[in-house]
Amino acid sequence: MMFKSTSLQQYNTFGLNAMAKKFAAFNNIEECKLLLAAAAQQQMPVRILGGGSNILLTQDVEHVLLKNDLLGMALLDRLGDLQLVSAAAGESWHSFVLWTLDQGLQGLENLSLIPGTVGAAPIQNIGAYGVEIKDYFHSLVAIDISSGHQHTFLKQDCEFGYRESIFKKKRAGEFVICEVRFLLNTIPKYNTSYGAIGEVIAQQGVQDISARAISKAIIAIRQSKLPDPAVIGNAGSFFKNPEISTERHDALVQLHPQMPSYKVNDNSVKVPAGWLIEQCGWKGYSANGVGVHKLQALVLVNYGQGKGQDVYKLSADIIASVQEKFDIVLEREVNIW
Ligand code: FAD
Ligand code: NAP
Repeated sequence: MMFKSTSLQQYNTFGLNAMAKKFAAFNNIEECKLLLAAAAQQQMPVRILGGGSNILLTQDVEHVLLKNDLLGMALLDRLGDLQLVSAAAGESWHSFVLWTLDQGLQGLENLSLIPGTVGAAPIQNIGAYGVEIKDYFHSLVAIDISSGHQHTFLKQDCEFGYRESIFKKKRAGEFVICEVRFLLNTIPKYNTSYGAIGEVIAQQGVQDISARAISKAIIAIRQSKLPDPAVIGNAGSFFKNPEISTERHDALVQLHPQMPSYKVNDNSVKVPAGWLIEQCGWKGYSANGVGVHKLQALVLVNYGQGKGQDVYKLSADIIASVQEKFDIVLEREVNIW
């Protein structure tokens, strides 16, 4: 039997209990293509699983579920001050970031400690502390699930946006991402303007700023603010930060003078969804084994015995109350399965 019925509890960071009726893992491309062909023969739709840190399981998975275990990292061409690197999609994102730092490369340090795999990183153009992967992305290699053919996507093909790409929207579910390439700096070029990075580096007694020092500071900030999925089940930020027009923003500030915001461009601003949710009284909320994290209202949590349906229902209640108070409709960032 190629596919096995498997509990997904250990395969999702919410720690939710759901079954995958037809589950298999692959650790090379040929194996992946064989599994895709077997699924096609049974006329079964396919889903790909990485680290399970951006999914909410609300029911058993009826699709063929293929876990990506492709491994490998390599230095490719040197292009002046830039170094092309490649990582297989099943590598842990954070291990890959640390490996790039070990090679003396800069660029991905602000994205330290983001859970999940390299292959999922382009799906929502992962971002944190003022950097997104699109800033250093070169290309990726993917297999078309319906044909089994291999394609290369260059940066301009990926339609990257704020926590978005062609793989999350227009062509969602069509490809298995197998390898991702990045162009990284060999000479110092840092981004320390976001939040408390500079302060934390100073507190850590660092004299000379380096990619490694930034990575350490970000790891410390994240560990102090975000719940560790190994302790409390969660999938990071459950909602995206909404972008609204400057006119809407100016009107809202009249009503809510404390509302924080960040300029996106001349026409729009980003409002922290966590602040909106907190203002609606949800921070620290808990019921039916699920809730809203006590330090970061953007993170929904499973205290252990919660159900995916209850997390989903909570997210719907939060969306409704933010809409009622601020007339802003929050969009879920986490993929609902
Ligand atoms: P999964 O959850 O396994 O999959 C997510 C989606 O991608 C699914 O639709 C899946 O089908 C698809 N997919 C996965 N791998 C592939 C592949 N190889 N080919 C095709 N499709 C694939 N995100 C941020 O952007 N910034 C953050 O700072 C951040 N912090 C987080 C902190 C915590 C504590 C947690 C739990 C999550 C955080 N996230 C963050 C969200 C999450 O880590 C990222 O979205 C991550 O990229 C998901 O990777 P994954 O391998 O776990 O993907
Ligand atoms: P934070 O620093 O408390 O800030 C709250 C929100 O305000 C962030 O979401 C951020 O938007 C925005 N913000 C703050 N300072 C900003 C600046 N100088 N310029 C532009 N926007 C700014 O947020 P946090 O929860 O501790 O997270 C820190 C970083 O890690 C953020 O970038 C966040 O996106 C990322 N993160 C993401 C996830 C996820 O699952 N997606 C989970 C945890 C952390 P942005 O989100 O657009 O940066």
